[in-house]
Amino acid sequence: MRMSDLFLRTLRDDPADSEVDSHRLLVRGGFIRRIASGVYSWLPLGSKVLHSVEQIVREEMDAAGAQETVLPIIQPLELWEQSGRNAAYGPMMFRLHDRKETGFCLAPTAEEVVTTLVAAEYSSYRDLPVNLYQINWKYRDELRPRFGVLRSREFLMKDAYSFDRDLAGLQASYEAMYAAYQKIFTRCGLTFRSVKAQSGEIGGDTSQEFMAVAAVGEDAFVWCESCDYAANTEAATKQELKEKLAPGDAPAKEKVHTPDLPGIDEVAKALKTKPNRLLKCIAFDVDGELGLAIVPGDREVNEFALAQLFPGEVRLLTDADFAARPDLPKGYIGPDFEGAKHVVADSSIRAPHPWITGANETDHHVRGSVLGRDFTPSVWSEIAVVEPGDACPQCASPLRIDRGIEVGHVFQLGTKYTDALGGQYTDENGEQHSMFMGCYGIGVTRIIAAVVEEHHDENGIAWPAALAPFDVHIIAMPGDESLAEAAKLADELSVAGLAVLYDDREVRPGVKFADADLVGMPVQIIVGAKGLARGIVERKVRATGDRDEIPRADAVVAIVGAA
Ligand code: ATP
Ligand code: MG
Repeated sequence: MRMSDLFLRTLRDDPADSEVDSHRLLVRGGFIRRIASGVYSWLPLGSKVLHSVEQIVREEMDAAGAQETVLPIIQPLELWEQSGRNAAYGPMMFRLHDRKETGFCLAPTAEEVVTTLVAAEYSSYRDLPVNLYQINWKYRDELRPRFGVLRSREFLMKDAYSFDRDLAGLQASYEAMYAAYQKIFTRCGLTFRSVKAQSGEIGGDTSQEFMAVAAVGEDAFVWCESCDYAANTEAATKQELKEKLAPGDAPAKEKVHTPDLPGIDEVAKALKTKPNRLLKCIAFDVDGELGLAIVPGDREVNEFALAQLFPGEVRLLTDADFAARPDLPKGYIGPDFEGAKHVVADSSIRAPHPWITGANETDHHVRGSVLGRDFTPSVWSEIAVVEPGDACPQCASPLRIDRGIEVGHVFQLGTKYTDALGGQYTDENGEQHSMFMGCYGIGVTRIIAAVVEEHHDENGIAWPAALAPFDVHIIAMPGDESLAEAAKLADELSVAGLAVLYDDREVRPGVKFADADLVGMPVQIIVGAKGLARGIVERKVRATGDRDEIPRADAVVAIVGAA
């Protein structure tokens, strides 16, 4: 491909709305262009990367026994009513009407459609298992579309759905997808971890997320230095604190005046102690009853972990709630507050030393509050957000926390959708059962941004070979001889099977070098008169910056051999 023909305009300046490197570089390098918030066009260079990722995904899905389909993007809302998810998706879903006023939506995902499809075709145990996938555009009216194609409103997703006779079958299908995902992300050149996740909107039990490790990632995850434990911070737990602080002499409780201190840190400072000697009491509501969540003063409450302890809906109290309840002294509630129906304590407060707590009276705390004597939790659980250095729940080694980009997600759904949408089969004995379903998503366009986050430097992108739009970028220096020789080399390399981008433009060499570094093909070959006079061309490896000279006569063999 001649660069003078390529539909490409690289940009010197960063787009105004770019907050992360991948967004900046994909726009500047002419891979994507924004047309509306969270909606992008994929230009020729970007489209090639997109197809490479799709192809990797397709090969691994096919190898794992899944079958490719193409499901409609326009879906009848009626199906979403049947599954109960029309309301649950709320404003995330783009809805539209046809001329008869029938409701539709733009696919945010496809559980309803695929379950309806399978339910209509398959009805016997002999039909199962089956796993169907598609690589298709998805639409979500995200609250905050940002970071370019990392969180967009239109994005390409690979979604797969498995149907099995029973849980054991589902687990086998899930394992096969899990293994395929590891191959996919490895082939894409990503450093990733699979982490235990909360299931969120889709529901169901077991679920794991695949996180591309990245400082700009929107999700934090916890992982163990010594074993394979890894979990989304929402799902992460720790071992009960082993360190027991020395028992105090259980001094008597003493009320102290602590006015105008806006937070735990200020209270600790005023009382000349550390925040971890205070108890944080977070008030919540569950089915109209008041609960308190108790963690050490330097910890946060994990709302997901808290919510899981109750069948009803758990809601932290807001300022409006406090305003409506003058009996609740906001900021001064203690673990012995009389009106609390539930007192949930994190295991890390089992330490027998005296605590500083709210005095249940505005502007006052108490010193010397002792567990068992002065307050007694009704529930013990791991409700503090995990922090680096906490003990791994599997092996007690220190946990670490990193940030990641969720590039894939695998769920064991069970029978939620097959129950709702007629996904039943008849077994050997003529009995009917719901099929067991799993669903498996990969953000194809998001992977591309994640790869750029990992593979770039201050000058631009350095594509892993498997995703690069072209294998080789030939840069012709000025002069007829250089241009002719570069064109010839480009032809020879193409014939030898490489995808070649040849910069034949009449621009300064500096512009060509900068563009080559920006768009990021793995290998650059510089063809200039001086080198040719010595019978050589210059080679630069984009990722490392390593340069060498190769004899023009052996260039094709040398370049093809290294590609
Ligand atoms: P997130 O928590 O990031 O919003 P999700 O849990 O809503 O993701 P899923 O419903 O599991 O995502 O979708 C499957 C995959 O699709 C995700 O793992 C992610 O890679 C990708 N994806 C989801 N939302 C977006 C988006 N707005 N833009 C780009 N990719 C997305
Ligand atoms: Mg989402």
